[in-house]
Amino acid sequence: MKITVVGTGYVGLVSGACFAEVGINVVCVDVDQKKIEGLKNGIMPIYEPGLEEVVKRNYASGRLQFTTDLGEAIQGSEVAFIAVGTPPGEDGSADLKYVLAVADEIGTKMSDYIVVATKSTVPVTTGEKVRGAIQAALSKRGSELPFAVASNPEFLKEGAAVEDFMKPDRIVIGVDDERAEKIMKRLYKPFQLNGDRIIFMDIPSAEMTKYAANAMLATKISFMNDIANLCELVGANANMVRKGIGSDPRIGTKFIYPGVGYGGSCFPKDVKAIIKTGKQYGYELKVLQSVEDVNDAQKYVLVHKIKQHFGEDLTGKTFAIWGLSFKPNTDDMREAPAIVIIDELIAAGAKVKGYDPIAMEEAQHIYIGDKITYAKDAYDACVDADALLLVTEWSEFRIPSWDALGKLLNEKVVFDGRNIYDKKYLSELGFVHYGIGI
Ligand code: NAD
Repeated sequence: MKITVVGTGYVGLVSGACFAEVGINVVCVDVDQKKIEGLKNGIMPIYEPGLEEVVKRNYASGRLQFTTDLGEAIQGSEVAFIAVGTPPGEDGSADLKYVLAVADEIGTKMSDYIVVATKSTVPVTTGEKVRGAIQAALSKRGSELPFAVASNPEFLKEGAAVEDFMKPDRIVIGVDDERAEKIMKRLYKPFQLNGDRIIFMDIPSAEMTKYAANAMLATKISFMNDIANLCELVGANANMVRKGIGSDPRIGTKFIYPGVGYGGSCFPKDVKAIIKTGKQYGYELKVLQSVEDVNDAQKYVLVHKIKQHFGEDLTGKTFAIWGLSFKPNTDDMREAPAIVIIDELIAAGAKVKGYDPIAMEEAQHIYIGDKITYAKDAYDACVDADALLLVTEWSEFRIPSWDALGKLLNEKVVFDGRNIYDKKYLSELGFVHYGIGI
């Protein structure tokens, strides 16, 4: 079986490599020549645990190929996945220009029946737009080649993407063509040897499922942050409350950790996009609007605490920041809370020394650039810093040497944006600990 995956980002590269891993011939396509050349030379464009080995192994075996030539890639492919970006447009709606450009190109270059499956997160009705773009391109050529569209939203998590793809909880496929359904079933068979994990449905429902899933997860986070902020005001401990409510299986223990807000390439843009879809249909998603508002405010919570401790003017102060990526085990800095926190500290006159196990290169290139200095390790960040800020909970930050930190820092104060440190223990060591809701 041969397939094409268009877009070699977090989703496309992981999907392509994992399909190759189970024996499928995969051609990964990207418009970014540099990325494609890098991949051919074993250079990964992103950090994702386990990905490099899977890519290298399958590239060496010839099952995984990389090209910028979509026309050639789709020849003989039974499925073409669209896995390109869908960034937020100016009004918050998902920008479909990359998705539709790929659909147009497929229609222009296909020479046989193909299933065009959208893996990018796309709003309801995109399936029809993709179908329209392919149809229009075929008509231009005077061709009546048959094809099918499908919606196959991706649920992998950055930081555990390979694992998630290889062992999915569920595979959602929206399809309205029997032949396409059979092809998709065959394609995904190797990923569900322990039971049927495919949920077939109509295309609009599949498209909506992805947004509803991300919106629900974002809601849990903002809900808990709201409760944590109130805990702090009334003298309750949000960690205890989290354990108390999480033990109810109807609520569950996941995604109820108070923190500095969600970031990343998915939740912020997908919550915005579903709100926008609601508006387009005359429906106001009030809960999700609040989820977004709470999250926007939450990114400033740590800075408020810093200003309460040190005063509004932070001139002459230096802060060590541990963790820049939006969550651990990824180099992704899109919408990372660290960006807001760093910008606010600098605006108040402070200096910032950042350290992240993986994301420093990404930070330097794109997001924070030369606004901050970068430390060679976690302890180096704390040399002569006035306080330590824990922003992303990488494992290596979990049990630091407080003895060493006490000597490096000018003041023994920790702003713990993920509640990973024990306030009581730190206070016994002479540290002042600020957490979220505790
Ligand atoms: P990304 O920005 O990492 O990668 C997108 C890739 O598409 C880039 O390499 C870009 O060069 C390429 N591209 C753009 N236009 C192209 C074209 N015309 N032809 C070929 N390649 C083209 O994006 P991502 O994080 O992988 O996300 C892709 C989609 O998947 C988005 O819709 C996103 O919402 C969704 N998604 C992302 C995640 C995640 O964790 N990142 C999870 C689930 C779903």
